[in-house]
Amino acid sequence: MGKFVLGAKRPLIIAGPCSAETREQTIETTMQLARSGRVDVIRAGVWKPRTNPGSFEGIGEIGLDWLNEVKQATGLPIAVEVANRAHVECALKHGVDILWIGARTTVSPFAVQEIAECLHDNKDITVLVKNPMTPDIGLWAGAVNRLINEGVPQENIGLIHRGFSYFGQSKFRNPPMWHMIFEMRSHFPDMMMICDPSHICGCRPLLQGIAQQAADLCYDGVMIESHITPDKAWSDASQQVTPQDCITLIDNMMWREKTANDPEFNSELNMCRQEIDQIDAELFDLLSKRMKMADKIGHIKKVNNVAILQSNRWEYICRRMLSLTRGMGLSEEFVRTVLEAIHLESISRQNEIMNK
Ligand code: PEP
Ligand code: MN
Repeated sequence: MGKFVLGAKRPLIIAGPCSAETREQTIETTMQLARSGRVDVIRAGVWKPRTNPGSFEGIGEIGLDWLNEVKQATGLPIAVEVANRAHVECALKHGVDILWIGARTTVSPFAVQEIAECLHDNKDITVLVKNPMTPDIGLWAGAVNRLINEGVPQENIGLIHRGFSYFGQSKFRNPPMWHMIFEMRSHFPDMMMICDPSHICGCRPLLQGIAQQAADLCYDGVMIESHITPDKAWSDASQQVTPQDCITLIDNMMWREKTANDPEFNSELNMCRQEIDQIDAELFDLLSKRMKMADKIGHIKKVNNVAILQSNRWEYICRRMLSLTRGMGLSEEFVRTVLEAIHLESISRQNEIMNK
């Protein structure tokens, strides 16, 4: 079996269980995926960093024997999550082709540094770095730079977007915050960017939509969690799909070319437009949240019989935003125009509430 070459195939399809649980579950799941011919890399976690102690924390080293059996039988490369030196050494010993650094590890510079030092000048291994739990691009880029500084070739490093933990309400387990990814891409424009819809969605019905959105945004691949009996999975049960459903999901995806028949111009234009569309969607999502808050204030004012328009508040909002936006490359006129439009809409909604 030759060395796995990142970038040799696009799109890159990675699939397998969240965790290797038993030999039967690991082999059966991954063999079904492999036989479909649609999957390029087999994944499974054997060390699971879990939020709560007492949850299943991974089957450990023996899981690598099972993965290796699959590798021997199918010729497919195998990928596993590592979080420290012992994991890396163990994975390398068992012929793992691809290591990935999980979201809970990317947040920890000490852990990433330890992993990077273990891979010092290793030219064979591929390392995929998941985004950190928090939307902190510096931390993500820092993790990649630690690997590069230890001599891991840049072409052997890839990125995985698995969404960001969020304390507000969201239909996603880890909302994607796509605009963050554009920022990361601008740091490493040639690095493979893989989407992990399973951890973004946290549930099955949303998977196809997010996978397609990633393809539309020109991602280079997907990582999907699959399990022979998803409901009985020992970790991440609600987001895993059967191998058959996983293959259907992959088959339903439409992958986009990086460039149109012609030139760079087209593709760059497309990327910019998609980014703008996404930002617009997020802008209006925020505006809707702001209006709901204004409505709430309207109700409170009504109960207390307080006037809607309070000029000192309006002056404060203007002063504050003009100061906050200084240095953002926005003209004062533009900031005022946008603020006025928002404020007018808030007032008219509060008016309606008051007079209902
Ligand atoms: C996983 O891939 O199973 C995993 C633990 O992912 P994350 O680090 O994205 O939570
Ligand atoms: Mn998982």
